[in-house]
Amino acid sequence: MGGRLNLTVRKERPVRFNQGMIVDQHTDNDLVRPCDIKGILHAHSRWTDGAHSLASMVETAREIGLEYLGISDHFLSPAHQEGLDLDAARIQLAEIQRLREQYPDFDIFQGIEFDAGPGGELPQDDDVLRQFDYVIVSFPENGGYDPETFTRQVIKAARHPRVTILSHPLGDLMLRKQNGVLDMESVLQAAAEGKTVLEVTANPTCSELDWSHCGRAQELGVLMTISPNAHRAARLVDYRHGAERAREAGLRCASVLNTLDSGELREYLAMGSA
Ligand SMILES: [Zn+2]
Ligand SMILES: [Zn+2]
Repeated sequence: MGGRLNLTVRKERPVRFNQGMIVDQHTDNDLVRPCDIKGILHAHSRWTDGAHSLASMVETAREIGLEYLGISDHFLSPAHQEGLDLDAARIQLAEIQRLREQYPDFDIFQGIEFDAGPGGELPQDDDVLRQFDYVIVSFPENGGYDPETFTRQVIKAARHPRVTILSHPLGDLMLRKQNGVLDMESVLQAAAEGKTVLEVTANPTCSELDWSHCGRAQELGVLMTISPNAHRAARLVDYRHGAERAREAGLRCASVLNTLDSGELREYLAMGSA
């Protein structure tokens, strides 16, 4: 059995899963493989800018062998006018409940993707953030700031206690081959302090630079999630490409959040909102 994600990294109190079998010593066999990925935490539906219905996304995720899907539609923002407001999020949750009943062998998490403000702040208070199973924060203005401002923005979001996942902050910059615009060492240290998960993108068209930071993230004990950011059902399967790249980059299962099964993930997320 490969190395289990050490859930104690999130909070100091010890948490034991799998009959206490948290493995601390790693071998090459612990390197993540596509089959270790149990679910996806970054996907969009027609509720916002996705091409397919929530039901289609769930059905596809289930058909390709995943155990759960976190749907993380955008929250309303200037960059996402189609985003959910709180009323829409409540109606979406009712649909999620119906789908959970329809597919009792499959779990669905309701995440939300917020655009960070210029200073890294989130547009809603903690009570609102707590209503979602997890919070992804992304940086739509990346590249629009000088490196120091951008780094400060990402660090502030990384330290936010309610932020679960930093969406691949280098996203569009990678496509434009702009390196050095973000002080990744400082970001990774902030993620380690804030116990924030770093997303590594599984999208085959935009992967290069993400992986170069994975080794350091792992050294610092920063968890990562392999995410396709799927805006259509056919892109969900990109997680397999992501896992292969992660393996090449030396990522162990113990560093990858979405190697947890749905029960373990629920427990992990509950620690974050405690
Ligand atoms: Zn989107
Ligand atoms: Zn997204």
